[in-house]
Amino acid sequence: MSNSKKLFLEAKKYIPGGVNSPVRSFKSVKGHPFFVKKAKNQYLYDEDNKKYIDYIGSWGAQILGHANKDVVNEISKTIKNGITFGAPCKNEILLAKKITKIYPSIDKVRMVNSGTEATMSAIRLARGYTKKNKILKFDGCYHGHGDSFLIKAGSGLSTFGVPNSHGVTTSIAKDTISVPFNDIEKVKQAIKKNKLACIIIEPIAGNMNFIRSNISFLKQLRILCNENKIVLIFDEVMTGFRVALGGAQSIYKVKPDLTTLGKVLGGGLPVGAFGGKSKIMNHISPLGEVYQAGTLSGNPITMAAGLKTLSLISEKTYFKRLTKITKYLTDGINIIARENKINMSADSEGGMFGIFFTNQKIKDYNSISRSNIKKFVDFFNYMLANGIYFAPSAYEAGFISSKHLKKDIDMTLKVIQKWVKNN
Ligand SMILES: *Cc1c(COP(=O)(O)O)cnc(C)c1O
Repeated sequence: MSNSKKLFLEAKKYIPGGVNSPVRSFKSVKGHPFFVKKAKNQYLYDEDNKKYIDYIGSWGAQILGHANKDVVNEISKTIKNGITFGAPCKNEILLAKKITKIYPSIDKVRMVNSGTEATMSAIRLARGYTKKNKILKFDGCYHGHGDSFLIKAGSGLSTFGVPNSHGVTTSIAKDTISVPFNDIEKVKQAIKKNKLACIIIEPIAGNMNFIRSNISFLKQLRILCNENKIVLIFDEVMTGFRVALGGAQSIYKVKPDLTTLGKVLGGGLPVGAFGGKSKIMNHISPLGEVYQAGTLSGNPITMAAGLKTLSLISEKTYFKRLTKITKYLTDGINIIARENKINMSADSEGGMFGIFFTNQKIKDYNSISRSNIKKFVDFFNYMLANGIYFAPSAYEAGFISSKHLKKDIDMTLKVIQKWVKNN
């Protein structure tokens, strides 16, 4: 038995399902996870000393590759002066200032410890600010595991939301409306029927594989929110500092009222943030009546790791190169698919990508749930056996770091080619 398999059996005795976040369990790819011993740059090494090219990078956070030496040095240097104070420190200002510089839609920003906290707090703020209760989200968009987001909408818009996790009460679920991604008519109908506090969206969805919103759709959301005094929230926990330095909003040139951030922002340490217009942000405690707090929020170590990461990815050609190497992978996949006439395609923006096993246009959750999931599972396991680690679910995006080299991609494409030939 491999060391990873032994560890998984041991883990399952003490940790529910053996993991601290469900997708890591490999449940949907019918296997058992490998346990990571160490990670450096673009590679992971497991407890059986097997090496993998990592196309997840801690779900996007490790944009500089694992254990980047400048970030590690910065953390080591900072930690010598204390781990956490529960009192203000200078690094908090520096990081907040940097975020507002990169995101013109953000005047003020509050730090938290995870993306989940960021989105939970953002909708509370939107509700407090507008004095309305209902929120609108989109089918297949993930905004962390806050109660209000674990909702699958009923079939008709007149039907109130039904929770898709036990433990979420129906009274919470009825305040969340979920409609199909990229469907502006459904949004208009929902606005007519409900008093919405906010609309929250992943402008490029990364939790139902990789799905772009249409430009006209986002622009119309902006207009509808203005007309109806609804707070528009872009959840850029994944896309922020990832599809471009300034996130999806810099690509689409649409300014949300609030933005949530996370992942890359912490340089690999636990982090989240939400920010936006001062006139909204000033409603948070201690200035306003919307309560929000955090014991470890804005701790000096996370702030230092974030600051160093943002400064390295702000270098002029950084995203140009990252975009190019990511596109080298997705173009390669598209060429292989075309030459072999198989239903497979890929798309990317910045350092984020998706691989699809369908010939349908990718526009919403249904495009992915109707894709060939069985093919994906086979693909995933073949790649893994060959030392290539893609996300263990057809509903997750992929990520490339600035440490990935052309030779890593070439080797990946060669294995994909082999898999295609065997199919
Ligand atoms: C990862 C993610 C979250 C949740 O962040 P956590 O740090 O895992 O709580 C929220 N929204 C989006 C878009 C995400 O990708």
